[in-house]
Parts: sequence; C-alpha cells; structure tokens
Amino acid sequence: MEDYILKQSLWIGGEYRPAATYTELKNPYNLEHIADIAVAGKNDVLDAIASAEQALAKLASLPAFVRAEILEKVAGFLKEEREECAKIISQEAAKPLKAARAEVDRTIMTYTFASHEARRIHGETVPMDAAPGGEGRLAFTVREPIGVIAAITPFNFPMNLVAHKVGPAIAAGNPVVLKPASQTPLSAYKIAELFHRAGLPEGALNVVTGSGRSVGDILMKDERIKMITFTGSPEVGRYIRENSGLKRVTLELGSNSAVIVDKGVNLEKVIPRIVTGAFSYQGQVCISIQRIFVHEKLLEVFTEQFVEEVKKLKTGNPLDEDTDISALISRGDVQRTKEWVDEAVASGAGIKIGGSNSDGIYQPTVLVDVDASEKVSCEEIFAPVVHINRFRTMDEAIEMVNDSKYGLQAGIFTNDIHHGLQAAKRLEVGGVMINDIPTFRVDQMPYGGVKLSGMGREGIKYAVEEMTELKLISFKME
Ligand code: NAP
Repeated sequence: MEDYILKQSLWIGGEYRPAATYTELKNPYNLEHIADIAVAGKNDVLDAIASAEQALAKLASLPAFVRAEILEKVAGFLKEEREECAKIISQEAAKPLKAARAEVDRTIMTYTFASHEARRIHGETVPMDAAPGGEGRLAFTVREPIGVIAAITPFNFPMNLVAHKVGPAIAAGNPVVLKPASQTPLSAYKIAELFHRAGLPEGALNVVTGSGRSVGDILMKDERIKMITFTGSPEVGRYIRENSGLKRVTLELGSNSAVIVDKGVNLEKVIPRIVTGAFSYQGQVCISIQRIFVHEKLLEVFTEQFVEEVKKLKTGNPLDEDTDISALISRGDVQRTKEWVDEAVASGAGIKIGGSNSDGIYQPTVLVDVDASEKVSCEEIFAPVVHINRFRTMDEAIEMVNDSKYGLQAGIFTNDIHHGLQAAKRLEVGGVMINDIPTFRVDQMPYGGVKLSGMGREGIKYAVEEMTELKLISFKME
C-alpha cells in the first residue's frame, strides 16, 4: 500500500475548500514528499477576502473578553499539541526539533499576550481646552479595528510569525486573509484549525496558499483589504510597499545583524551565547548574528574559543533530538551560500571552520579578514556563516555596525556603562541589546527595524496600534 499523503485544501469561510491544483510539499532535509498543498486560484483568493469582509461586523462586535478567551483557548490547544506542532514545523522547515519546540512555546506566549492585549485596547482623554476655542468639550479617543488584514508570512518561524499577525489582528477585531510561505503552509493551516475549534467566527481567519506573487498581487489590488502586514525579504517588502496604494503597510524585513564584544568581558559566558545567536536554525533568523566585532585585545583568544564552541554543534536530521544544525530551506540557498563564501575567500577572507556542504546542510562557518563590501558581510546571508572583525575604539565599532543598509537589532557585550550608553544612543537599529545578542527577542517587546529592515513595529501591543484606527470623539457640553 502506498504511504498516505496529506492533501491540504484551502481554508476559507470556516471550511476546507478544494483547489483546482495542488503542489508537492517536500521536506527540505531529505526531500521526502510530505503533503500536497492547494494552490489558490484568483477566485479562491477573492472568496477568502469576501468571507473576511463578511466576518468583519461579527468579529468587531464580539466583546473584548470573548476575543480574549478565543486567543487563550488557542494558546491552551497549542500547549496540549506542543509535540505535534513542533513536528510539523520541523518537517516542513527543517528546523531542529529543539528549536521547533522553542518556537511552539513562544507561539503560546504570543497568543497569550494577544489575549491579554485584547482586554486592554483603549484610548485616552484629550484636553481640548488646552487650545483657545477648545473649551467646554469632553474629548477622548477610541481604537477601532482597521478592517480586513492581509498577512503574508515567511518560512523561518512558520507558527510564531503567523501568531504575531493573527494574534493582534484578532485581539483588535480584524479578520485576516493569511498567505503563509509556500514551504511552510502546514503550520498555518494547523493554526486555522485551532482557531476554529476555539470558536472564532467563520471567515475571521482564512488561509490561502499559492505563489507569493500571484496571491500577493490580488491582495494588494483589492480595495477591501485595509492593511498588509508582511514579514519576509526586503525585495518583496519593497514590492509590496510600492504596489499597495494607500493601504496601511507594515514591513518586518531582513538584516545582517552585528554584535560588539568589548574588552574585559567574560568570554566563557559570552561565546556560547554568540554561537547560539549566529547558528540557531542554521542562521535563518532575521536577527541572526552575521558580523562579530571584537576588541583587538581579545581578538585572538575570542576567535580560538569561538571556533572550539562551534565544533560542538551537531549537524543532521531535524527530527533527531540532538541536532543543532540541519538543512537550509532549499538546495538553491546552499548553492548561494557557497558562492558568497567562495567569493569572499577569493578576495582574501580566511575560513576558520566550515565552508563545506552536503545533503542540503551548509556546515557552520566562521570567516575572518572579510572586507565589508563582500556579500557575506553587507547582504543578508541567512545561513550559518559569521565573520569576526577587529576594532580598536568604541567609535570605530559603532561606525562599522552602522555601515549597513539594514538596521533591525544590534548587541553589545561590555562592562563599561559609557560604552553601553554610547551604543544605545548611536546604533542605527530598532533595538539595542546591551549585554546580550541581537538575536534576543521576547514576544511582547516592540520589534522592528529601520533602514531596509522595515517599517512599523510588532510585539502584540505595538502591532495592535498598527492594526487599529484612532478615532476622536469630542462632546460639546452646551
Ligand atoms: P520571502 O521570500 O520574502 O517570502 C515571504 C513571504 O512573501 C512568503 O509568503 C512568500 O510567498 C511571499 N511573497 C513572495 N513574493 C511575493 C510577492 N511578489 N508579493 C507578495 N508576497 C510575496 O522571505 P522568506 O525567504 O520566506 O523569509 C526570509 C526573509 O524574511 C529574510 O529576509 C528574513 O530576514 C525575513 N524575516 C524578517 C523578520 C522580521 O521580523 N523582521 C522575521 C523573519 C524573517 P512564497 O513562499 O509563495 O514565495
């Protein structure tokens, strides 16, 4: 008997909808066929938008505590089905199981924060009489749902980044049309099922799969969509920004994140943390450490100890309990990584460890003597490749970190409070982590970038602000 292959249909209006065509989903590690995924046609996407629009009034009229309870239930179901969800992520994204479980745990936190936030969306009173002519009025603001939101998500955190869009949207009373990455649709469909079980009104969450370009173009053109919330690459982000007319658009894009290691820090503590920041999920994290700047006094010993720590990483099948590093998301990405590293080496960079690949896995790689103009430095590599650089003064380190078209988060390890504060003030990023890696994130904190790393902020409270319209109500007393 042939193995059963899941046939995943679209999720529109609270039910599964077969599509005219399906495409094979393969496990990026062993290229096994894991499911057939529906490819949404134009009418499917239009129906998803229509069903979201029909759900608008119902969802917006649900009391905050009911929206909060639905979100709480989803968090509860995720706790019960943690292992199954981790396996879905691990299989479709080649995310090592340890990291996949950590992602499910974060997803639980994200929906929990969303349920809290649903209960406290509020406005403020406005002192109208502060201006001549404003006397005699009681005025206040309220936050209203913005309307139907299109959420477009990437492959690298297929559950938690969906949660960062669906969680605040539902908290604020907005229906969603979700277009997950083609490589990671199963995590998104799983979440739709959990929301359905939790009692979310039909049509309040719709999932449509298919190529980003074709589904995206329909979403961008449709007047019924009021906002596009996108997480993904800068190229696609720019395309969406330029083609979405007057819709509100938030963009969470890429980076080539940096960490500064100042003189005097405890390397035994710092190095394992930096290894985690550079190599978790094969470096396919938007705030992965790509550039390390080490004070010249520590450079030699740092490099030596760092390489020793990297040697401890285990590569292999993402479903093996002890795997740290598995396959990149596609064989094309392995090839691209190889080309960028080879280019850097041809221009004089040295490889301290790694630099090779097999079975879709690019070995964790540490480079030195990399020119800032090399792609491995100035572009987002999104692979397990870092390079170590020297600095003499803090001014120089900050300038080198800022010498980037990106600006998501940066980290600095230092015992010098002045250096920490100097970095906090001058680093051109959305978040500065003093005494931590730039890869640090908890899900309630404001999160987002400057420069090509994007616009708008996530972190539930901040996403709710983006996903609501502020309305002023002024009451003239006589
Ligand atoms: P991607 O290729 O840009 O894809 C992201 C999403 O956009 C996918 O759903 C994709 O669909 C869709 N898409 C592709 N072309 C489109 C178009 N023309 N119009 C509308 N949608 C389109 O990114 P990725 O490779 O999945 O993810 C990696 C990138 O995401 C990295 O740059 C990373 O830094 C960034 N990221 C940023 C954050 C953050 O919070 N700042 C977090 C995670 C990841 P298909 O899959 O069907 O192509």
